[in-house]
Order: sequence, then C-alpha cells, then structure tokens
Amino acid sequence: MPHFIDVILPIPLEKQFTYHITEAESEFLKPGMRVSVPFGKSKIYTAIVLSVHTKKPLVYEAKDIHQILDEEPIVTATQIQHWQWIAKYYLSTLGEVMRSALPNAFILESETVITKGEAIIEDESDLRDDEFLVYEALQYQSSLKIQDLESILDRKNVLPVIKRLLEKNIISVEEEVYEKYKPKLVRYVKLGASYTSEDRLKELLEQLSRAPKQREVVMSLFMLSAKTQKAVKVTELAEESGASSTIIKALIDKGIFEEYHIQTDRVQYDGEENVASKNLNFYQETALKEIKDAFETQNITLLHGVTSSGKTEIYVKLIEEMVNQGKQVLYLLPEIALTTQLVNRLQDYFGEKVAVFHSKYSSHERVEVWNNVLNNEPKAQIILGARSSVMLPFHDLGLVIVDEEHELSFKQFDPSPRYHARDTAIVLASLFRAKTLLGSATPSLESYFNAQQGKYGFVELTHRFNNVLMPDIELIDIKDKHKRKRMNGHFSDRLIEEITETLSEGHQVILFQNRRGFSPIVECNTCGHSPQCPNCDVSLTYHQYIRELRCHYCSYHMAMLQSCQACGSAELDSKGFGTEQVEEEAKALFPNHKVGRMDLDTTRGKFGYEKIITAFEQQEIDILVGTQMLTKGLDFRNVKLVGVMNADNLLNFPDFRAHERSYQLMVQVSGRAGRTDIRGKVLIQTYDPHHRILQQVSTNSYLDMFKEQLDERYNFKYPPIYRLIKITLRHKDYNRVNLAADWYAKSLRQFFGEYVLGPEFPPVARIRNNYNKNILVKIPQKQSLAKTKEAIVRINNSFNSVKDFRAVRVVLNVDNY
Ligand code: ADP
Ligand code: ZN
Ligand code: ZN
Repeated sequence: MPHFIDVILPIPLEKQFTYHITEAESEFLKPGMRVSVPFGKSKIYTAIVLSVHTKKPLVYEAKDIHQILDEEPIVTATQIQHWQWIAKYYLSTLGEVMRSALPNAFILESETVITKGEAIIEDESDLRDDEFLVYEALQYQSSLKIQDLESILDRKNVLPVIKRLLEKNIISVEEEVYEKYKPKLVRYVKLGASYTSEDRLKELLEQLSRAPKQREVVMSLFMLSAKTQKAVKVTELAEESGASSTIIKALIDKGIFEEYHIQTDRVQYDGEENVASKNLNFYQETALKEIKDAFETQNITLLHGVTSSGKTEIYVKLIEEMVNQGKQVLYLLPEIALTTQLVNRLQDYFGEKVAVFHSKYSSHERVEVWNNVLNNEPKAQIILGARSSVMLPFHDLGLVIVDEEHELSFKQFDPSPRYHARDTAIVLASLFRAKTLLGSATPSLESYFNAQQGKYGFVELTHRFNNVLMPDIELIDIKDKHKRKRMNGHFSDRLIEEITETLSEGHQVILFQNRRGFSPIVECNTCGHSPQCPNCDVSLTYHQYIRELRCHYCSYHMAMLQSCQACGSAELDSKGFGTEQVEEEAKALFPNHKVGRMDLDTTRGKFGYEKIITAFEQQEIDILVGTQMLTKGLDFRNVKLVGVMNADNLLNFPDFRAHERSYQLMVQVSGRAGRTDIRGKVLIQTYDPHHRILQQVSTNSYLDMFKEQLDERYNFKYPPIYRLIKITLRHKDYNRVNLAADWYAKSLRQFFGEYVLGPEFPPVARIRNNYNKNILVKIPQKQSLAKTKEAIVRINNSFNSVKDFRAVRVVLNVDNY
C-alpha cells in the first residue's frame, strides 16, 4: 500500500500538498514534524506534516519527499488547530500562518549548489576566461555555491556563466537544503577515561613532573571539579590555571584530557533568585478576588484599572498560582520597549522561569525559546512577549494576560495573516481551557462593550497605589497664547513655567509629540511648493539631525534642499513640528538640563530602547521628548510633569477611532506623571480646549467617553456594533486599479448592498509607486461572519480569474482596526 503525507508549505497557496513516502517513513513521521520537499521545477521547501495517510491524490502524481528534518514534532497538534483558526478567520493561508509562526531558522531554504558536470575537457583553451575560472575551481572543490562563484569571478551577475557551462555540460546544478539554526556549544574538558583510577592518576602526575605547566593544568582541573562539583568549561580552566589554549590542546591531543561540548541557550538569566511578591493592598486584594470569582463562570475577564493602580502586581499573583500548578503563562505586551522594564520586574519574582520572545531577538534565540516552550521546560514557563508569541508551541497553558489590551500594535497589518494578537490569544486560551485576563486603564471600546454585554467578566480598580491622586490636568489654549504672544516656539508660557518649577525640584519631565522628525513638511514661502516623495503621494519630512528629507512610507531620502525646487526661492519654511524640533527647542530653553528623545529614529537596534529607558530611569536625562512609544505602560518613578505639545493632530486624524485613540493616548501619557507619592501635573496644549474628548481626558471620565463614542458607532455603523473587512486593491497602473476596484465593489454590492463603502482612495493613495484603493464591507450583528467571508472568498476567486486583473494585488483585512 502506498503511503502519503499532507503538508503545509510556507507559501501563500490555498491548497495543501500531498507527497509520497515509504512505509518506513510512514511509521516514523508524525504530524508537526518538518520534512523538506521538492516543489515546482527546482525549489525545495521546508514543510510541516499535517497528516499521514494512504489516500492517493486524484489529480496529480505525488512526488517523493526529499528528507525528514526532525526526530520529534516541533509543532503541536493544538498549534495546528490554532493556525487553522487564524487562517480561516483572517482570510489567509496556512502557509502564511506557518511563515509568521516559525522562527526563520526553522524554515530551511534551498540553496543552489554547483558540481562538476559530465563533460570531459580536452583543450582548456576552448573555454572563455570566466568559464575556465569556474572549471578550475571545481578541480579543487567538489561543490561551489553562488556566493563562491561571485567571489571567484569578482562580479554579481554570474547567471550567464552558469548558463553557458550548463549547456556545455561542464557543471551540473542542484538544490541543497541546509540547516540554519546552529545550537550554541560550550566547550568542556574532563580527565581522559583511562586516567580516572587513582593509580593511573599518580602515574600521570609523576610522568608530568618534567612538564610542570601541564601538571599544573591537570591539578587545576582537579581542584575546580572538586570545588564546584560541576562540569568544567575550557574557559574556566584556562582562567583558573593561567594556561594558554595551546597547553590545554596538547593535553587533549595526548588523550590526558577529553573535550566535549554541551549545548547552551544564548539568552541566560544570571540574576539573583526570587524576591517574594508584594503584599497587595485592600483594593488590589479585592480586585484579585473579583477576578478569580469572574473566572469561575467566565473565560475572559477585563480588568479596568486606572494608571498606576498596581495591575501588574495583581498579574504577578495570578502568575504565581499558575506556576505553582506547573502551568505555562503567556503575558502579552504591545511593545518591545515595555518588555525591558517588565522582564526585570518579573525576573525578581520568578527568576529564570521568565523567557522573552519578540522580533528583536535573533532567529537563533527564538528557536531556543521555542524549544523550551515546546518541551515544557521550567525555564520557559512564563513567556513575556509581543504579538508573535501567541504562536508558540504551548503545552499546558493555564493563563493568558493581555496587558494594555487597547493597543493598536497588537494588530498585525502586514504581511498576512493580519491577526489581532489579543483576539488570537483568547482563541489560544480557549483551546487549552485556560483563562484570559485583559488589562487596561483605557480599555478598547470593543472589550468594554463585550464586558457590558456580559460576554466578559469585569473588574474595576479605581484607586492608584498608595492613594496617589490622579494627575492634575490643565488644558492650555494655544490659539489665545499665540494671539497674546505668550508662545516661545511651540512652548506656551505655562508649559515653560511648569517645566522650570519641576526641574528646580529635581523631578523629571516628559514631553509628548506624536510625530517624529523635525518638522514634517518643508514649504516654500514664495510659491507654496513642498518637496514630495517621488514614489508616494506624501510630502517629505525634514530630519534636522541628519539634514535630510525623508519619506515615512518608503524610506526614500535626499539631502535637505537649499532652495525651492519649483521657483528657486531660498525662503523655505517648516510647517508642523515633530519630536526633533521639540527636542531642539527644549535644549535651547533649558540649556542646563539634559534633554533626550525616544522615537523610532532613536530606538533602532536591539538595545535601543533599553539604553534610553535606563538613562531616564537613572535620571541621566531630565526632559524626555517622545512619540506614542512613551505612552505604553512605562513606570518611571521621578516624573512629575507631562506636557502634550499638541492635542489637535491626534483629534483630527481621519479615522473612525481617532477620538477613542486620542482619549487613550492622552490618559496613558498622563499616567506617566506622579507615580509615587507626589501628585503629577499634565499640561495639554490645544487650539480647541472645549473639545469633548479633552474635557473627558481632563476629568478622567472614561465612561462618558465610552457612551458618547458608542452612540457614534451606532449611528455611523462602525465597530463594535458592526464588524469590518477592508479590501485593498493595489497596482502600479492608476486606471487598472480603478477598473478592478469598480468590478470588485459591484460584485460585493450584489451580496451586501448598502453595507459596501467605496471604492475610495486613502489619503495617501500612492505608496512605493503603487496605487491603493479601498473597499469597506460592514457586517451587521445579525449577519453571519462565516457566511460573509465565504461570499468574499468566492468573489475574490472570480476576481482572480479575470485576466485583466490577475496582476492586481488584493489585500483582505478582517477587523482592520
Ligand atoms: P499599573 O500596572 O496599574 O500601571 P503598577 O503595577 O506598575 O501599576 O504599579 C504602580 C507602582 O506601584 C509600581 O511601581 C509598583 O511597584 C507599585 N506597587 C503596586 N502594587 C504594590 C504593592 N502591593 N506593594 C508595593 N508596591 C506596589
Ligand atoms: Zn517656491
Ligand atoms: Zn515614499
């Protein structure tokens, strides 16, 4: 009987693929193992086994697999179930989910390998120079890679040579798979097996009396292993004995020492173990009890606790219980920046049980965390991670915590799967019958709505820890300040006064501006022209620090202009302002204080965040200027004043959630002020101090904001009342996009009538030389989500079969907010 496997390939194709395997392989292979398989003409892919069976595919001849890559599954059955949910819900393919779930190092790539061909060369002078060089190299080396060829020929384009040599049969080409993950090995030594008896040892020492240095090393090894009772690393031995590596090597060569390697993890925790967790105060204790009660009947509970109310300490108590039961915990955070502070806090309590997983980790480090979670190792019992950690191979998950659940960064926009980590985590938890706790000081409208509807449990925490008062929030009318000439650059007199006072008391200041760069737009005073990105429909942003104009969509950049490109005038002015300019102005206003900046530009690199956060914590920086990165749950002890430089660009953002978001952002950034015993102060500069949202922020009225926004969502048919699926069509050609979008929208309207909006160009229609056009499908509560998606998939399939539209890219985004 023939045997087959169905596999997932890491490519965006709908179908699963079937491969032929031998009987022996069928006994060995289990779902979740990796195999490498041939695909198309010459590609080799890493695939994950979905099932092992004996059903011959009907329409094609199944190929043989290339190689089995694992001894045990690296993906669990629950994970595959979870992936299937993600693919179906977010209208993506299993292959795309696999791509984003697996650390890159797990996905082996095939590589072209060049070996000698069959032709026999009689006269080498028949070969052209470049052909000869390759031919010659193959006389010394059995195989060459493309990079080898590039360096032999000292040029990038080596394909023509390969082609000519192939035609002459001088080389042959094949694809080879190589393993990308390399475990980190540490070198150890022990005494050779034949010297372990006491007599032989004595003999050895006598024998070495003429080689005192070697003798000393042997003695050192002895002492070390007696003292530590542990295996001895070569580095330790060298340090202890002062011996060079040559001496140690000589001993190994003589067989006196034996060397061996042990695989170790790249990320190691080496701090002190386990401080006792804090005693909760009355309010926290009550909230904890309410959460546990809610969990009796609900799988999901929302904790609405004002900033600095001590939510994290409550999480710690819940984690403690799970750890004592031996269960795994997933702690999701919206931003890598936050893991920095939290990981220290959690490691104090849980030591090396805490593992961190996020995209700034190297692929190797991620493989190690993956394996530790998969093997249920105690050292990865608590996973602290950003979005992608919901895809780890959990075994015995007991609790999921989603902190700052309202954050937009939980949503992945590109590439597919466009999943929301909070919602995906809730599904993950349900697969394990585990509980999910959502926490926020400013819950998303949809979570608060779910809590009100009784779908989630709901717990409130309205007191700040230590009874610190909520910050005092003052709105500053900068229109009036401008009129009365009370502005100094972008700083009002009030803001300057408060900063001066705060600094003189030795406290720190945060200044929030939701834009990076110096001043977003450069404008000609004479003709009004502003320099545009050649690839996108946006104006370039001025970055003063590097004197460059940059595009924030495609990273196009050019040197700052000396004169207007349109009229030649030298009078270029700047409109709007970003973090860089705030930083500049703050430096000029407070020359005796240290000003720092935290935004996308200053936090690149693995430790980018850590450096700035630490410097601020240690009060090496007095005034920290930053973008919304600053708002997310950071806990700084000495900040007393927060200034919002301009609230209006938040409020006027063209998005149905702009008001909700502005509320969240401003309350969160205010929450950074006065977290210990002093009351914080917040100044919000705005042209429109009577705006409802600003009034609600200044009185901390979440519920008012919620009710008002929810009314609007009813009226204008937006989430959480209606659901949304956004469809984007993308192509280089403007007319083609228009035609395609009209076709698509018309088909959708036949099903969904008035609930289809658009097609419409977004504010920035052209990005990287591609035009985008959006269609929005609104789904009323009564309408089945599954049926709606089925209809969209059908329409999408017919769309793809129209010849003219084949090159138009379609992006389906479920819950696009
Ligand atoms: P939130 O997450 O609600 O913003 P945190 O958990 O960060 O609040 O708590 C705010 C501050 O109060 C932190 O510095 C924390 O260490 C401290 N804190 C909270 N709960 C306690 C407690 N029970 N005992 C001592 N300190 C606490
Ligand atoms: Zn001009
Ligand atoms: Zn651009």
